Amino acid sequence: MREFRIDLRSDTKTRPSRDMRTAMAEASVGDEQSGEDPCVNELTARVAALLRKPGALFLPSGTMCNLIAVLAHCRPGDEVIAAENSHLISSESGGATAVAGAQIRPISAKRGIFSADQAAAAVRPGKINAPTTRLIHVEQTVNRGGGAIWPIDALRELAAFARERRLAMHMDGARLMNAVVGSGVAASEFSDCCDSVWLDLSKGLGCPMGAVLAGDEDFIRAARRWKFRLGGAMRQAGIIAAAGLYALDHHVDRLRTDHDNARRFADALRSVDAVSIHAPETNLVFFDIESSRMSASELAQALAEMGIGIGVEGRTTLRAVTHLDVNAAGVDEAAAAISSILG
Ligand SMILES: *Cc1c(COP(=O)(O)O)cnc(C)c1O
Repeated sequence: MREFRIDLRSDTKTRPSRDMRTAMAEASVGDEQSGEDPCVNELTARVAALLRKPGALFLPSGTMCNLIAVLAHCRPGDEVIAAENSHLISSESGGATAVAGAQIRPISAKRGIFSADQAAAAVRPGKINAPTTRLIHVEQTVNRGGGAIWPIDALRELAAFARERRLAMHMDGARLMNAVVGSGVAASEFSDCCDSVWLDLSKGLGCPMGAVLAGDEDFIRAARRWKFRLGGAMRQAGIIAAAGLYALDHHVDRLRTDHDNARRFADALRSVDAVSIHAPETNLVFFDIESSRMSASELAQALAEMGIGIGVEGRTTLRAVTHLDVNAAGVDEAAAAISSILG
């Protein structure tokens, strides 16, 4: 595997910093499965408070958060409404269907943000031969929507619709804190719209692993059971939770720097003729090189030879992600390299 000097492939590529590792090494720990790990308990209490939910559960990954939420909200044969570009549909090995037996109804939505009217049109009629619509799934920020932030008003409208129709609302908050920093809206304002919500510790927050799923007592009770069944219960997980506590203290406000660097990268690419690009809202930058003679994978290959990592999203579409292990000089160099390769 190639080592990239400048790795813009994903915000999952961060390595735990020296100070984070120190916090991990010094963590007090206990048996998580029995509820005895002090660091895990502190982390879940802290995230529950941040998201204004009665309870929270520490899980190994965001993928398991989404899967457990579907398992807790739905029965086999139930239907989930989700944007067609959602991570749930594209990037979780079909877990909601394979494990939870849920069917997903994709909504086509520009940048992954859909209206209450679109959701209404996707709800099945209460007929014996139709699946029962049970859950609305939203992503904050929308990964394959270019890191778009669900506006709080759109989310509130959707939540009001969900409540009226007795549908559950779930938020995939893999990058919820990017939405908070990018919009200035509190995390609890977003999570108030949802029955269940999680945030990932291993994306922009820079932890080696972990995610925290929050909801009310009944939801968390059901989720905890599924965590056991899936083998997600851990032992001295405080080693990992300590990284999460460290990240909440030190890595939230600095997401602003990632957003600044994403904008800086996009601004630099805007002057390259062959590149078509939108101003990023957060730390994800999608751009298209259709008008160049190169494919996305050829460009990525040429960059890799210069020690620069970038994601290929489509035949002519690429994704660059800023995070705490790339700085302004790094994005400048990456943009200059793209400009010279395409130029
Ligand atoms: C990364 C990601 C996930 C899954 O999280 P993991 O911690 O990698 O399992 C889910 N949804 C979105 C939008 C993501 O970007």
